[in-house]
Amino acid sequence: AGNARTIPFDNSYARLPDIFFAAVDPTPVEAPRLIAFNRALAEELGLDADMLERHGAGYFSGNVALPGSLPLAMAYAGHQFGRFVPRLGDGRAILLGEVIDRNGKRRDIQLKGAGQTPYSRRGDGRAALGPVLREYIISEAMHALGIPTTRALAAVTTGQPVYRDRVLPGAVFTRVAASHIRVGTFQFFAARGETDNVRVLADHVIERHYPELKGIESPYLALLDAVADRQAALIARWLGVGFIHGVMNTDNMTISGETIDFGPCAFMDHYDPRTVFSSIDQNGRYAFGNQPMIGQWNIARLAEAMLAILDEDQDKAVEAVNAAVGRFMERFQDHWKAAVRAKLGLGDDEQEIDQSLIRDLLVTLYEQKADYTLAFRRLADSAESSEADAALGRLLEDPDALTPWLSAWRERLARDATPPRDRAAAMRRVNPAFIPRNHKVEEALTEAIDHDDFSLFAALNDVLSKPYEDQPAFAAYAEPPRPGEEITATFC
Ligand code: AMP
Ligand code: MG
Ligand code: MG
Repeated sequence: AGNARTIPFDNSYARLPDIFFAAVDPTPVEAPRLIAFNRALAEELGLDADMLERHGAGYFSGNVALPGSLPLAMAYAGHQFGRFVPRLGDGRAILLGEVIDRNGKRRDIQLKGAGQTPYSRRGDGRAALGPVLREYIISEAMHALGIPTTRALAAVTTGQPVYRDRVLPGAVFTRVAASHIRVGTFQFFAARGETDNVRVLADHVIERHYPELKGIESPYLALLDAVADRQAALIARWLGVGFIHGVMNTDNMTISGETIDFGPCAFMDHYDPRTVFSSIDQNGRYAFGNQPMIGQWNIARLAEAMLAILDEDQDKAVEAVNAAVGRFMERFQDHWKAAVRAKLGLGDDEQEIDQSLIRDLLVTLYEQKADYTLAFRRLADSAESSEADAALGRLLEDPDALTPWLSAWRERLARDATPPRDRAAAMRRVNPAFIPRNHKVEEALTEAIDHDDFSLFAALNDVLSKPYEDQPAFAAYAEPPRPGEEITATFC
């Protein structure tokens, strides 16, 4: 009872009309054990970290209700690999509620794998340990990279098996998000012809994520534009670090602009825009280089879902939508140009040669099967001194393949007054030394699953929390896989 005041939940989603969700409690598990707890995040959320950690096994498994929570599963629809499914919803996730964090921001706290809901269809409502640890590692790594993302608050094992292609240990993941509202949430109501609810949702989203749009002239059109811009910015950030989401279905695209749903996602090692890891993406729909186009496609689906509320004159609405979808790609190009210029150490002053410098570097990295992350990290060293060029060359099949390019690049950099050391430092702030390498992630997961040993998992999280620092003691974590270590497929 002494805990009753410790979680100041304010559940605005639960105040929306009944059709938006189904109230449902987590299903208790047999033997919960807290295996990871993000103390810094708990503190950022303004929560009592000691209390949560002490009782974490109960709270983060769903066995013990967090005081003030109002557990519910959210309704949504979505295009999965291009095919529309009118009723998806949280089939294994349960929203406990919302808290206002130390920065005044509203955040969702959600259990993933907490049991069946009315949206489970044939699913068991559960999650396996491997994917839970994967989401923990990768979402926190994304955050440390400075990329908008849902966060990991905790993970517990359940003491119960889950049945996939083999029997696996079960786990529950506690996710924190600005909200869990998706493109598919809009689609759910639009598909049912419930224009009023589309409007209710849009108003809720504006209040929550885009308050600056309140009371302006066409707020819904502005909302569509704002969501498109955040997604364009997000995807540009993904490309900058070699991230492949893997399942960019419209139910996995947030309205807040955070990365969500780390299923078969992966970071690319050597640079190739066609890279796909997801075992369920047979046609490469969600390949690395397709992500901007898919982002635009998803924004077009959001626009369709919002069509009825954009303008009473539906011809005008269609025109506005087409313009907004077109603007997505322009915005993406702007965000990507800024990101890649920073990666190459090019300042704000655009010069004619810059475009070809960018293109030629990427083409050479591709042809030379160079590691994307390390190549840019080494390039930062080369910005300081040509003595570092040899290390960059060692990443290429032909160590001299970049020699002419490096001269052209240096000539270009010389036309800019920035001191080389400052330029190199700025490049190191955007070109990480550490990404969650697939083989390192798999290694940590295997230790945890097969030997109940979470030390590699903890060590990996630690290294990835400072991705832009060199951390020489952990150089092995920066290395691409050696022959035989490559992971070619990832699973949800
Ligand atoms: P995802 O591929 O994780 O984005 O999930 C797509 C849909 O399948 C969502 O509606 C999920 O809630 C649902 N789902 C995925 N796994 C399960 C499961 N084990 N039990 C019930 N529903 C699930
Ligand atoms: Mg309901
Ligand atoms: Mg999903």
